[in-house]
Amino acid sequence: MQKNPYGQNYKGDNHTFRMFKDEGDDQGSVPWNQKIFQNDESHKCPTYVSQTPPCQGSCPSGHNIRGWLDIVRGMEKPSGDLSWQEYAFRRSTDANPFPSVMGRVCPAPCEDGCNRNEVEDTVGINAVEQFIGDTAKEEGYKFEFEAKDTGKKVAIIGGGCGGLTAALQLRKQGHSVTVFEKYDQLGGMMMYGIPDYRVPRDVLKHEIDRIIETGVETKMNTKVGVDVSMEELEKDYDAVLFAIGAMSGRSLPIPGGEAANCVSGVAFLEAYNQGRLKHITGKVICIGGGDTSIDVVSVARRLGNIENIAEKDRPERVIFDDTAHDVVDTSKRLGADVLLTTRSTVENMPAAQEEIDDANREGVEIQGQLQPVEVVTDGNGRAVALRMIRLEEDGSTPIEGSEFDIECELIVSAIGQGVDAEGMDDSFFNERGFIDADKNFQIPNKPGFFVCGDVVRPHLLTTAIGQAGIVADSIDDYLAGNNQKARNKVDVHYFDLMDKLNEWDLAPTEYDKGALAAATDSAEYAVHNYEDRSFASIIPHTELFLGHFDNEERNARNHKTVDVDNVLGNFEERLIGYNEEEAKAEAGRCMSCGLCFECDNCVMYCPQDAVFKVKKDQATLGRYVDTDYSKCIGCHICADVCPTGYIQMGLGE
Ligand code: SF4
Ligand code: SF4
Repeated sequence: MQKNPYGQNYKGDNHTFRMFKDEGDDQGSVPWNQKIFQNDESHKCPTYVSQTPPCQGSCPSGHNIRGWLDIVRGMEKPSGDLSWQEYAFRRSTDANPFPSVMGRVCPAPCEDGCNRNEVEDTVGINAVEQFIGDTAKEEGYKFEFEAKDTGKKVAIIGGGCGGLTAALQLRKQGHSVTVFEKYDQLGGMMMYGIPDYRVPRDVLKHEIDRIIETGVETKMNTKVGVDVSMEELEKDYDAVLFAIGAMSGRSLPIPGGEAANCVSGVAFLEAYNQGRLKHITGKVICIGGGDTSIDVVSVARRLGNIENIAEKDRPERVIFDDTAHDVVDTSKRLGADVLLTTRSTVENMPAAQEEIDDANREGVEIQGQLQPVEVVTDGNGRAVALRMIRLEEDGSTPIEGSEFDIECELIVSAIGQGVDAEGMDDSFFNERGFIDADKNFQIPNKPGFFVCGDVVRPHLLTTAIGQAGIVADSIDDYLAGNNQKARNKVDVHYFDLMDKLNEWDLAPTEYDKGALAAATDSAEYAVHNYEDRSFASIIPHTELFLGHFDNEERNARNHKTVDVDNVLGNFEERLIGYNEEEAKAEAGRCMSCGLCFECDNCVMYCPQDAVFKVKKDQATLGRYVDTDYSKCIGCHICADVCPTGYIQMGLGE
C-alpha cells in the first residue's frame, strides 16, 4: 500500500466505485440491469443540497474556505473583468482580513477537520491562504465597498486582530469607528507576541494599513482608563467594544516565583518585538509547552548569549524597565543554553508539531513530565535555579523524591495570559479578570457595551477574528434599534446560491400568479430543487463518494532550514510560500465537500439520461446540473456517484 509523507498508509486505497455489475455477478443475486431498473426504483428523485464543509466548520474565523479554494483551482470564475486572484482575495477577506498573517501562523484547525484526511492527507489550506494574502499585497488590492454613513460612532478599545476586524466590518456597515490603542503600533499579539521571523512586519503592517485605509480613526498611545476615561467614551460614542486582549503574562505560582529574573513569556516576546531585547545572559528555562513557549525559546536561541554584562543589561532589567540593549553588543553573542519544560510528555505538548521540530533542530532542549516547585534564590532575591519534580506520564502525578535543581539565569513563564485592566471599571470584569459575553458578544447587563477576543477567553487569533465578525453584526443591530439575532447553528460565511445568481444576472424573476408555468418546475420566479442547509449542517466524509478521488500527495510548503549551526542571529522568515502553480495544484486537491464541483459523474452515470447540464448561459456554481423529473426513476445512482455529497435523494416522498 502507498504511504503518505508521514509514513501512514493512504486511506483512499479502500475507496472504490460501486459496481452494480459486480454486485450482481459476485453475489449471484439479480442481474445489474434489473437491480437498477426494478429493485432500485423509488419515488425519490435527486435534489441539490448545499452543506458546510468541515474545514469551514473548524475554522474559528468562519472562512468560506471551499469558496476560495474553488476560485484558486479555477473552477469558480469571477464575473466581469475581475482577476481570479482578486476574486479569491475578496472571498477570503469577507470573514478574515488577515490572509497573509493567518496563512503563516494559524495552527490551522481547519486542516484537522478537512475531509481529505480520509483519502490521504489534508488540503494545505493555510498555505493557499498565504498565497492569496501575499498576492493581494503584491498587487495592492484594497477593500472596496460603498456604505451609506449611518451617523453612528463606535469606540473600539484595542487594535489587535479582533479590534481591527470589527473595525473593518463596522465600516462596511457605514459606522464611524475609532480604535484606541495603548501601544504605539497596532496589531496586538500579532505585533508584540509573534516574532518577526514568523510574520514579517511589512506583511503585517500592510494588512493592518489596508483596514485603516477604509476610514478607521486611530488614537495611538492612548490607554482607556488612564489617558481617556470610560465615561468619556460612553458620552462620545453610541457603542463601545472591548477588544483589549489578554497581553499580561502570569507569573509562576510557586515559592520564589516573584524573583526579579522570573519574567512572563508575553513580556519577553514584547521586549524582543519592540527591538529592545537583543541578547540573553546565561541559561534560560522556559516553562510552558504551548505556542508562546516555543516562540520564547526560538527567540532566545536566535538572540544568543552574552556573558559578563553590566547590571543594566540583564534581560529582566530590559524587559521590566522598558530600556533597550545596545545593538553594538550583539557582535559578542554566542549560542544560548535554552531549556523548555512541560508537564505533559514531549509528544503530547500542545504546541504544533512542526514548531516543536523546528525548535529541536535549532538546538532547544525540551524536557517533558517536569513541574516547577520552587524558585531557588540567592541572598539578593535573584533566581539562581529552578527546583523541579518529575511527573508520571499523565502529566500531573508527582514522583515522590524526584526533585532536582536546574541552575539558570532567567526563568520565563509561558503558562497563561491575563488581562491588563488598569483604570477600568471593575464591574465589567468577572472574578477571573476576564469579561463575560452572551452569544451575540454583548456584555451582560451593560447595554451598548460589547466584547470579543482573548479578553473573553484566550484562544487563537482566528477565534478573535470570528468573534469580531459576529460582534460587528450585533453592534449594527443595536445601533439600528433591532433585536439581537439568534445565531445559526453553523455560524460561518458560506456559499449563497442567490448571491451567485445575482452576480451573474440570473436572479429569479418576479412572481407572476397568472403565468401558465406558475406551479411547475419551469417557473422562473423560484430556484427549484435546491436546499440550503449550510447554516445548520456540516457534511461528514461518509456522505461523500471518496472512490472518485485518486491519492494525491499534499504539496507541503518549503522551509528554509534553520539549525543549530545557523540559528544565532538568524531572523529570516523560514516559510517559503507557494507560487501560483503550487497554489493551484493544492487547491485542486479540495473535494468541494457539500457543493457541486462540476465533475459530470451524475450526467454520465444516470441510466435514464434524466440528469443534464444546465445551458451555459444559465449555469452558475451550484446550478451546473439539473434533473428532468419526467425521466427519473429514483435509482439514486447520481447520488451514489456524486463525489461531493451535493446530490441527495430528497424529492418526491
Ligand atoms: S484562519 Fe486558520 S483555521 Fe481559518 S482557514 Fe486560515 S489557517 Fe485555517
Ligand atoms: S476537501 Fe476541501 S471542502 Fe472538503 S473539508 Fe477539505 S478543504 Fe474543505
